[in-house]
Amino acid sequence: MRARLPYRLQERHFVSWKQSQHLKMEFVKPPDRSNRAAWLEGPSGRCTPQPGVVRRLRLILLGAPGVGKGTQADLLRKHLGACHLSTGDVFRAAAHSICEPSPAMAAALDFMRRGELVPDTTVWEMVRERSQCLHCRGGFILDGFPRTLMQAESLKKLMEDEHIVLDAVINYELPLAEIVERLSGRRTCEQCKAVYHITRQPSRDPGGCDRCGGKLLQRDDDCPESVKVRLETYERSTAPLIQFYRDLSVLLPVAATGSPEEIFARTAASLEAILHG
Ligand code: ADP
Repeated sequence: MRARLPYRLQERHFVSWKQSQHLKMEFVKPPDRSNRAAWLEGPSGRCTPQPGVVRRLRLILLGAPGVGKGTQADLLRKHLGACHLSTGDVFRAAAHSICEPSPAMAAALDFMRRGELVPDTTVWEMVRERSQCLHCRGGFILDGFPRTLMQAESLKKLMEDEHIVLDAVINYELPLAEIVERLSGRRTCEQCKAVYHITRQPSRDPGGCDRCGGKLLQRDDDCPESVKVRLETYERSTAPLIQFYRDLSVLLPVAATGSPEEIFARTAASLEAILHG
C-alpha cells in the first residue's frame, strides 16, 4: 500500500538556525495574494487568481496547538504564494458569519468552544466539498488538518484518487511548558485572522492589527480550561499522525523554539533540502 503513494520525501534531521543562515532561500519570492475565498466560504467562494508561482509546494503542518503552525503557515503563504488552508479558520469564519449555521456546523462550533475535536464526519464533509482547493495552482499549506488517523487516511485516498502529490509534512516540535505560555498570550485579529502574541510578537498598535486595523481578541478556546482539553486531545488523537507520516517517508521535523523568524528560517532550510536534495 505504501509503495503506491506519490509522496516523495525522506525524513530529514533538524537544521540549526546557524546552518539555515547559510542557505539561500531560492524559492522565496513575496507574492501576497491568496484570499482563500473558496476555502473559507465553501465551493461558492471564488479566489482571486494567482499570478506566476515560483515553486508549487503542497504541505501539511503538524504540531500541538500553540506551536505556531498558523504563524508559519502565514509566512510560508507569503513566500511561496501557496494557499493557507486552515480548518480552524473555516470554523471561526462560520462562528462569526451573519448567516445562521447549519445544525452540523452549530454542533461543530460547540465542540470547538470546549476545545474538543469536531467529529471526523463533519470535518471530512467540509474538506471534501472544498477539495478543489487542493488543486490550487500556488500549492497549499494545510494547517490543523488532518488531526486524526481517520482524517489522514481519507486525505491520502483523496489525494491518490485526484493524483495530487504531497511534498512534505512539517512537524513542529516544542516543550509543553512553552506551548502553554504561547497559547495564553496569543491574540488574533477578528477581521483578517493575523496572529500576534502579547510579548513574543506584539502588534505595533496595542489591541489593533498591523495588517488591517482590526480588533485583536483572545480566542474562546485559548482560555485555560480549553487549552488543557486541546493538549490532551492532541496527544491522544493527533500525535499518532507523526508515525503515520514518518512511515510514508514525508515527515520533516522542525524545532519550534525561538522567534517566528528563526522557526521560519529552519522551515525554509528544511524545504530547501527537499527541493535540492
Ligand atoms: P489550534 O490552535 O488548536 O491548532 P485550530 O485553529 O487548528 O487550532 O482549530 C481550532 C479548533 O477547531 C480545534 O480545537 C477543533 O475544535 C476544531 N478543528 C479544527 N480543525 C479540526 C480537525 N481537523 N478535526 C477536528 N476538529 C478540528
